[in-house]
Amino acid sequence: MNSEEFIPLSRPYITDQDERAVLDAIKSSQLSLGERTSAFEQKFASLVGAEYAVAVNSGTSALHLGIKALGISKDDEVVVSPFSFIASVNCVLYESANPVFVDIEEQTLGLDPNLVYQVISDKTRAILPTHVFGQSCQMKDLCELAKGHQLSILADSCEAISAKHHGKEVLEYADLATFGFYPNKQMTTGEGGMLVTNNLQMYQMAKSLRNQGRGDDMNWLVHDRLGYNYRISEITAALGCSQVDQMPEIHLRRQKLAAYYMSAFLEIDEIQLPRVPDYNEHSWFVFAIRVSETIRDVLLQKLNQKGIQSKAYFYPCIHLQPFYRERFGFKEGQFPVAERVSKETIVLPFFTSMTERQVDIVKTRLIESLNEIRKGY
Ligand SMILES: *Cc1c(COP(=O)(O)O)cnc(C)c1O
Repeated sequence: MNSEEFIPLSRPYITDQDERAVLDAIKSSQLSLGERTSAFEQKFASLVGAEYAVAVNSGTSALHLGIKALGISKDDEVVVSPFSFIASVNCVLYESANPVFVDIEEQTLGLDPNLVYQVISDKTRAILPTHVFGQSCQMKDLCELAKGHQLSILADSCEAISAKHHGKEVLEYADLATFGFYPNKQMTTGEGGMLVTNNLQMYQMAKSLRNQGRGDDMNWLVHDRLGYNYRISEITAALGCSQVDQMPEIHLRRQKLAAYYMSAFLEIDEIQLPRVPDYNEHSWFVFAIRVSETIRDVLLQKLNQKGIQSKAYFYPCIHLQPFYRERFGFKEGQFPVAERVSKETIVLPFFTSMTERQVDIVKTRLIESLNEIRKGY
Protein backbone atom coordinates (compact mmCIF):
# COMPACT_ATOMS: atom_id res chain seq x y z
CA MET A 1 0.00 0.00 0.00
CA ASN A 2 1.24 3.44 -0.88
CA SER A 3 1.35 5.32 2.41
CA GLU A 4 0.60 8.63 0.66
CA GLU A 5 -2.81 7.28 -0.18
CA PHE A 6 -3.84 6.50 3.40
CA ILE A 7 -7.00 8.45 4.19
CA PRO A 8 -7.95 8.60 7.88
CA LEU A 9 -11.50 8.34 9.17
CA SER A 10 -11.18 11.70 10.85
CA ARG A 11 -8.59 14.34 11.54
CA PRO A 12 -8.80 17.40 13.79
CA TYR A 13 -8.87 20.75 12.02
CA ILE A 14 -6.25 22.82 13.84
CA THR A 15 -5.14 26.18 12.45
CA ASP A 16 -2.40 28.72 13.24
CA GLN A 17 -5.04 30.72 15.05
CA ASP A 18 -5.64 27.72 17.36
CA GLU A 19 -1.92 27.35 18.02
CA ARG A 20 -1.55 31.02 18.97
CA ALA A 21 -4.58 30.87 21.28
CA VAL A 22 -3.20 27.84 23.13
CA LEU A 23 0.25 29.37 23.44
CA ASP A 24 -1.19 32.61 24.84
CA ALA A 25 -3.14 30.63 27.43
CA ILE A 26 -0.09 28.66 28.57
CA LYS A 27 1.88 31.88 28.94
CA SER A 28 -0.82 33.54 31.05
CA SER A 29 -0.65 32.95 34.77
CA GLN A 30 -4.26 31.77 35.05
CA LEU A 31 -4.49 28.12 33.96
CA SER A 32 -7.93 27.21 35.31
CA LEU A 33 -11.27 28.95 35.99
CA GLY A 34 -10.26 32.13 34.22
CA GLU A 35 -11.59 34.44 31.57
CA ARG A 36 -10.99 31.95 28.74
CA THR A 37 -13.42 29.47 30.27
CA SER A 38 -16.17 32.09 30.56
CA ALA A 39 -15.41 33.41 27.08
CA PHE A 40 -15.67 29.86 25.67
CA GLU A 41 -19.02 29.39 27.40
CA GLN A 42 -20.37 32.69 26.15
CA LYS A 43 -19.22 32.16 22.58
CA PHE A 44 -20.58 28.62 22.56
CA ALA A 45 -23.93 29.65 24.04
CA SER A 46 -24.35 32.22 21.34
CA LEU A 47 -23.32 29.75 18.61
CA VAL A 48 -26.13 27.36 19.55
CA GLY A 49 -28.65 29.99 20.64
CA ALA A 50 -28.53 29.09 24.34
CA GLU A 51 -28.93 31.33 27.35
CA TYR A 52 -26.35 29.47 29.46
CA ALA A 53 -23.44 27.09 28.85
CA VAL A 54 -21.23 25.13 31.23
CA ALA A 55 -17.89 23.92 29.87
CA VAL A 56 -16.79 20.51 31.15
CA ASN A 57 -14.01 18.01 30.53
CA SER A 58 -15.99 15.65 28.26
CA GLY A 59 -19.30 15.10 26.52
CA THR A 60 -19.89 12.29 29.00
CA SER A 61 -19.48 14.71 31.94
CA ALA A 62 -21.96 17.06 30.24
CA LEU A 63 -24.48 14.19 29.99
CA HIS A 64 -23.97 13.27 33.63
CA LEU A 65 -24.48 16.87 34.76
CA GLY A 66 -27.58 17.05 32.56
CA ILE A 67 -29.05 14.03 34.34
CA LYS A 68 -28.13 15.56 37.72
CA ALA A 69 -29.54 18.97 36.79
CA LEU A 70 -32.87 17.28 36.02
CA GLY A 71 -32.82 15.72 39.49
CA ILE A 72 -33.04 12.20 38.08
CA SER A 73 -32.33 9.58 40.71
CA LYS A 74 -32.84 5.97 41.74
CA ASP A 75 -35.70 4.12 40.01
CA ASP A 76 -36.63 7.03 37.74
CA GLU A 77 -37.01 5.99 34.10
CA VAL A 78 -35.29 7.73 31.21
CA VAL A 79 -36.15 6.89 27.61
CA VAL A 80 -32.98 6.28 25.57
CA SER A 81 -31.91 5.11 22.13
CA PRO A 82 -30.09 1.81 21.54
CA PHE A 83 -28.38 3.36 18.49
CA SER A 84 -25.96 5.78 20.10
CA PHE A 85 -22.59 6.06 21.77
CA ILE A 86 -22.59 4.25 25.11
CA ALA A 87 -22.18 7.41 27.21
CA SER A 88 -25.73 8.50 26.40
CA VAL A 89 -27.07 5.56 28.41
CA ASN A 90 -24.29 5.13 30.96
CA CYS A 91 -25.11 8.59 32.34
CA VAL A 92 -28.53 7.29 33.41
CA LEU A 93 -26.91 4.38 35.25
CA TYR A 94 -24.50 6.72 37.07
CA GLU A 95 -27.53 7.94 39.03
CA SER A 96 -29.06 4.47 39.51
CA ALA A 97 -31.98 5.41 37.28
CA ASN A 98 -33.38 2.96 34.72
CA PRO A 99 -32.79 3.40 30.99
CA VAL A 100 -35.81 2.40 28.92
CA PHE A 101 -34.70 1.62 25.37
CA VAL A 102 -36.96 2.47 22.45
CA ASP A 103 -36.29 1.63 18.80
CA ILE A 104 -35.28 4.23 16.21
CA GLU A 105 -36.86 5.36 12.93
CA GLU A 106 -35.11 5.24 9.56
CA GLN A 107 -35.22 8.89 8.49
CA THR A 108 -32.98 10.37 11.18
CA LEU A 109 -31.81 7.18 12.97
CA GLY A 110 -33.06 8.71 16.23
CA LEU A 111 -35.77 7.67 18.71
CA ASP A 112 -39.10 6.86 17.05
CA PRO A 113 -41.68 9.17 18.70
CA ASN A 114 -44.49 6.69 17.97
CA LEU A 115 -42.71 4.06 20.05
CA VAL A 116 -41.60 6.44 22.81
CA TYR A 117 -45.25 7.12 23.43
CA GLN A 118 -45.85 3.45 24.27
CA VAL A 119 -43.25 3.15 27.05
CA ILE A 120 -44.16 6.21 29.11
CA SER A 121 -45.08 5.15 32.65
CA ASP A 122 -45.59 7.00 35.92
CA LYS A 123 -41.87 6.52 36.59
CA THR A 124 -40.76 8.16 33.35
CA ARG A 125 -38.99 11.41 34.06
CA ALA A 126 -37.16 12.32 30.89
CA ILE A 127 -36.40 11.51 27.27
CA LEU A 128 -32.75 11.39 26.22
CA PRO A 129 -32.65 11.41 22.41
CA THR A 130 -29.36 11.22 20.53
CA HIS A 131 -28.74 13.22 17.38
CA VAL A 132 -26.90 10.65 15.33
CA PHE A 133 -24.10 11.34 12.81
CA GLY A 134 -24.76 15.10 12.73
CA GLN A 135 -28.49 15.50 12.32
CA SER A 136 -31.36 16.09 14.69
CA CYS A 137 -33.80 13.28 15.45
CA GLN A 138 -37.58 13.90 15.46
CA MET A 139 -37.31 16.57 18.14
CA LYS A 140 -40.49 18.42 17.26
CA ASP A 141 -42.60 15.32 17.89
CA LEU A 142 -40.60 14.28 20.95
CA CYS A 143 -40.98 17.77 22.39
CA GLU A 144 -44.77 17.69 21.99
CA LEU A 145 -44.88 14.27 23.57
CA ALA A 146 -42.72 15.41 26.48
CA LYS A 147 -44.90 18.47 27.08
CA GLY A 148 -48.03 16.33 27.10
CA HIS A 149 -46.60 14.06 29.80
CA GLN A 150 -44.59 16.61 31.82
CA LEU A 151 -41.30 14.99 30.87
CA SER A 152 -37.96 16.73 30.45
CA ILE A 153 -35.71 16.36 27.44
CA LEU A 154 -31.94 16.08 27.64
CA ALA A 155 -30.67 16.01 24.05
CA ASP A 156 -27.38 14.30 23.31
CA SER A 157 -26.16 16.65 20.55
CA CYS A 158 -22.54 15.60 20.93
CA GLU A 159 -22.42 14.71 17.23
CA ALA A 160 -24.62 17.51 15.98
CA ILE A 161 -23.18 20.93 16.73
CA SER A 162 -24.84 23.52 14.45
CA ALA A 163 -27.52 21.08 13.26
CA LYS A 164 -31.00 22.55 12.89
CA HIS A 165 -34.47 21.00 12.98
CA HIS A 166 -37.30 22.85 11.21
CA GLY A 167 -34.86 25.76 11.11
CA LYS A 168 -34.47 25.83 14.90
CA GLU A 169 -31.63 25.14 17.32
CA VAL A 170 -31.76 22.17 19.68
CA LEU A 171 -32.94 24.10 22.77
CA GLU A 172 -36.13 25.01 20.94
CA TYR A 173 -37.12 21.42 21.73
CA ALA A 174 -35.02 20.38 24.74
CA ASP A 175 -34.46 21.53 28.33
CA LEU A 176 -30.78 20.72 28.16
CA ALA A 177 -28.37 19.68 25.42
CA THR A 178 -24.85 18.31 25.46
CA PHE A 179 -21.93 18.71 23.08
CA GLY A 180 -18.59 16.92 22.85
CA PHE A 181 -15.19 18.06 21.62
CA TYR A 182 -13.25 14.83 21.25
CA PRO A 183 -10.78 15.05 18.31
CA ASN A 184 -13.13 13.30 15.85
CA LYS A 185 -15.92 15.83 16.42
CA GLN A 186 -16.65 18.81 14.14
CA MET A 187 -14.77 21.07 16.54
CA THR A 188 -12.32 19.82 19.14
CA THR A 189 -10.56 20.77 22.34
CA GLY A 190 -8.72 17.45 22.66
CA GLU A 191 -11.06 16.39 25.42
CA GLY A 192 -14.01 18.53 26.40
CA GLY A 193 -17.75 19.03 26.43
CA MET A 194 -20.49 21.57 26.99
CA LEU A 195 -23.90 21.51 28.65
CA VAL A 196 -26.34 24.19 27.50
CA THR A 197 -29.74 25.27 28.80
CA ASN A 198 -32.09 28.23 28.98
CA ASN A 199 -33.02 27.34 32.56
CA LEU A 200 -31.21 29.37 35.22
CA GLN A 201 -31.66 26.84 38.07
CA MET A 202 -30.33 23.97 35.98
CA TYR A 203 -27.42 26.12 34.87
CA GLN A 204 -26.50 27.03 38.45
CA MET A 205 -26.79 23.41 39.57
CA ALA A 206 -24.55 22.16 36.73
CA LYS A 207 -22.01 24.87 37.40
CA SER A 208 -21.80 23.99 41.07
CA LEU A 209 -21.59 20.23 40.40
CA ARG A 210 -18.78 20.75 37.90
CA ASN A 211 -16.77 22.48 40.57
CA GLN A 212 -16.94 20.16 43.63
CA GLY A 213 -20.40 21.30 44.68
CA ARG A 214 -19.24 24.81 45.46
CA GLY A 215 -21.71 27.67 45.44
CA ASP A 216 -21.10 30.49 42.99
CA ASP A 217 -20.02 33.17 45.46
CA MET A 218 -19.04 30.80 48.24
CA ASN A 219 -15.78 30.28 49.94
CA TRP A 220 -13.39 27.91 48.07
CA LEU A 221 -13.62 25.37 50.89
CA VAL A 222 -17.38 25.41 51.35
CA HIS A 223 -19.28 22.67 49.52
CA ASP A 224 -23.08 22.74 49.26
CA ARG A 225 -23.60 19.34 47.64
CA LEU A 226 -21.82 16.23 46.37
CA GLY A 227 -19.93 17.55 43.39
CA TYR A 228 -17.28 16.51 40.89
CA ASN A 229 -14.23 17.90 39.24
CA TYR A 230 -15.47 18.18 35.66
CA ARG A 231 -13.64 21.47 35.01
CA ILE A 232 -11.59 22.30 31.92
CA SER A 233 -8.27 24.11 31.92
CA GLU A 234 -7.75 27.55 30.43
CA ILE A 235 -5.60 25.89 27.77
CA THR A 236 -8.55 23.76 26.68
CA ALA A 237 -10.85 26.79 26.85
CA ALA A 238 -8.48 28.82 24.68
CA LEU A 239 -8.59 26.14 21.99
CA GLY A 240 -12.36 25.98 22.42
CA CYS A 241 -12.76 29.75 21.87
CA SER A 242 -10.62 29.64 18.79
CA GLN A 243 -12.48 26.63 17.38
CA VAL A 244 -15.92 28.15 18.04
CA ASP A 245 -14.83 31.23 16.10
CA GLN A 246 -14.10 28.94 13.14
CA MET A 247 -17.31 26.90 13.42
CA PRO A 248 -19.19 28.78 10.67
CA GLU A 249 -16.34 28.03 8.26
CA ILE A 250 -16.02 24.43 9.51
CA HIS A 251 -19.78 23.92 9.09
CA LEU A 252 -19.72 25.24 5.54
CA ARG A 253 -16.71 23.17 4.54
CA ARG A 254 -18.31 20.01 5.88
CA GLN A 255 -21.58 20.77 4.10
CA LYS A 256 -19.73 21.23 0.82
CA LEU A 257 -17.73 18.06 1.34
CA ALA A 258 -20.90 16.09 2.10
CA ALA A 259 -22.57 17.45 -1.03
CA TYR A 260 -19.57 16.37 -3.08
CA TYR A 261 -19.64 12.91 -1.46
CA MET A 262 -23.37 12.60 -2.17
CA SER A 263 -23.04 13.41 -5.86
CA ALA A 264 -19.90 11.30 -6.32
CA PHE A 265 -21.54 8.26 -4.70
CA LEU A 266 -24.96 8.60 -6.30
CA GLU A 267 -24.48 5.93 -8.94
CA ILE A 268 -22.98 3.20 -6.74
CA ASP A 269 -25.73 0.57 -6.60
CA GLU A 270 -24.75 -1.47 -3.57
CA ILE A 271 -24.80 1.42 -1.11
CA GLN A 272 -27.46 3.55 0.55
CA LEU A 273 -26.51 7.18 1.02
CA PRO A 274 -27.31 9.09 4.21
CA ARG A 275 -30.83 10.48 4.28
CA VAL A 276 -31.38 14.12 5.02
CA PRO A 277 -35.06 14.96 5.37
CA ASP A 278 -35.88 18.51 4.29
CA TYR A 279 -36.74 19.61 7.85
CA ASN A 280 -33.17 18.93 8.96
CA GLU A 281 -29.97 20.89 8.46
CA HIS A 282 -27.20 18.34 8.84
CA SER A 283 -23.90 19.24 10.49
CA TRP A 284 -22.04 16.18 9.17
CA PHE A 285 -20.20 14.46 11.97
CA VAL A 286 -19.39 11.46 9.77
CA PHE A 287 -20.31 10.24 6.31
CA ALA A 288 -22.27 7.06 6.99
CA ILE A 289 -23.41 4.73 4.23
CA ARG A 290 -25.36 1.50 4.48
CA VAL A 291 -24.60 -1.78 2.74
CA SER A 292 -26.07 -5.27 2.96
CA GLU A 293 -25.03 -6.84 6.26
CA THR A 294 -23.77 -9.87 4.33
CA ILE A 295 -20.94 -7.82 2.80
CA ARG A 296 -20.26 -5.27 5.51
CA ASP A 297 -17.33 -6.94 7.23
CA VAL A 298 -15.54 -8.01 4.08
CA LEU A 299 -16.03 -4.53 2.61
CA LEU A 300 -14.59 -2.93 5.74
CA GLN A 301 -11.62 -5.25 5.59
CA LYS A 302 -10.94 -4.41 1.93
CA LEU A 303 -11.32 -0.66 2.41
CA ASN A 304 -8.95 -0.63 5.35
CA GLN A 305 -6.44 -2.76 3.43
CA LYS A 306 -6.60 -0.21 0.62
CA GLY A 307 -5.78 2.64 3.02
CA ILE A 308 -9.33 3.91 3.41
CA GLN A 309 -9.91 3.94 7.13
CA SER A 310 -13.51 3.00 7.80
CA LYS A 311 -15.56 1.48 10.62
CA ALA A 312 -18.83 -0.17 11.57
CA TYR A 313 -20.77 2.45 13.53
CA PHE A 314 -22.48 2.14 16.07
CA TYR A 315 -21.89 -1.57 16.34
CA PRO A 316 -23.05 -3.32 18.39
CA CYS A 317 -26.09 -1.40 19.63
CA ILE A 318 -25.90 -0.27 23.26
CA HIS A 319 -28.33 -2.89 24.58
CA LEU A 320 -26.16 -5.59 22.97
CA GLN A 321 -22.91 -4.40 24.53
CA PRO A 322 -21.44 -7.09 26.81
CA PHE A 323 -22.07 -5.10 29.99
CA TYR A 324 -25.69 -4.34 29.09
CA ARG A 325 -26.45 -7.93 28.07
CA GLU A 326 -25.04 -9.16 31.33
CA ARG A 327 -26.71 -6.62 33.57
CA PHE A 328 -30.14 -6.43 31.90
CA GLY A 329 -30.35 -9.68 29.91
CA PHE A 330 -30.96 -8.00 26.57
CA LYS A 331 -31.08 -10.26 23.52
CA GLU A 332 -30.90 -9.73 19.79
CA GLY A 333 -34.20 -8.89 18.12
CA GLN A 334 -35.58 -6.54 20.77
CA PHE A 335 -34.97 -3.36 18.77
CA PRO A 336 -35.03 -4.56 15.16
CA VAL A 337 -34.59 -1.25 13.35
CA ALA A 338 -31.61 -0.16 15.44
CA GLU A 339 -30.06 -3.61 15.15
CA ARG A 340 -30.46 -3.69 11.36
CA VAL A 341 -29.06 -0.17 10.91
CA SER A 342 -26.20 -1.06 13.25
CA LYS A 343 -25.33 -4.12 11.13
CA GLU A 344 -25.46 -2.23 7.82
CA THR A 345 -23.71 1.06 8.59
CA ILE A 346 -20.16 1.94 7.61
CA VAL A 347 -18.55 5.31 8.23
CA LEU A 348 -16.08 6.53 5.63
CA PRO A 349 -13.28 9.12 5.95
CA PHE A 350 -14.77 12.55 6.63
CA PHE A 351 -12.97 15.57 8.08
CA THR A 352 -12.96 19.32 7.62
CA SER A 353 -9.71 19.48 5.64
CA MET A 354 -10.60 16.53 3.39
CA THR A 355 -10.28 17.34 -0.32
CA GLU A 356 -12.50 16.40 -3.26
CA ARG A 357 -9.54 14.47 -4.63
CA GLN A 358 -9.56 12.36 -1.47
CA VAL A 359 -13.29 11.70 -1.86
CA ASP A 360 -12.54 10.52 -5.42
CA ILE A 361 -9.91 8.12 -4.05
CA VAL A 362 -12.40 6.77 -1.49
CA LYS A 363 -14.87 6.27 -4.33
CA THR A 364 -12.38 4.42 -6.54
CA ARG A 365 -11.32 2.13 -3.70
CA LEU A 366 -14.92 1.49 -2.70
CA ILE A 367 -15.91 0.53 -6.26
CA GLU A 368 -12.83 -1.71 -6.53
CA SER A 369 -13.77 -3.42 -3.27
CA LEU A 370 -17.38 -3.95 -4.32
CA ASN A 371 -16.22 -5.42 -7.65
CA GLU A 372 -13.89 -7.80 -5.86
CA ILE A 373 -16.68 -8.90 -3.56
CA ARG A 374 -19.02 -9.46 -6.51
CA LYS A 375 -16.42 -11.63 -8.21
CA GLY A 376 -15.93 -13.58 -5.00
CA TYR A 377 -12.47 -12.54 -3.91
C1 LIG B 1 -18.77 11.93 21.34
C2 LIG B 1 -20.05 11.57 21.93
C3 LIG B 1 -20.31 11.76 23.29
C4 LIG B 1 -19.30 12.33 24.27
O1 LIG B 1 -18.10 11.70 24.25
P1 LIG B 1 -16.85 12.15 25.15
O2 LIG B 1 -15.79 11.27 24.63
O3 LIG B 1 -17.21 11.89 26.56
O4 LIG B 1 -16.60 13.60 24.91
C5 LIG B 1 -21.58 11.47 23.76
N1 LIG B 1 -22.54 10.99 22.96
C6 LIG B 1 -22.32 10.79 21.64
C7 LIG B 1 -23.46 10.30 20.80
C8 LIG B 1 -21.08 11.05 21.09
O5 LIG B 1 -20.87 10.82 19.79
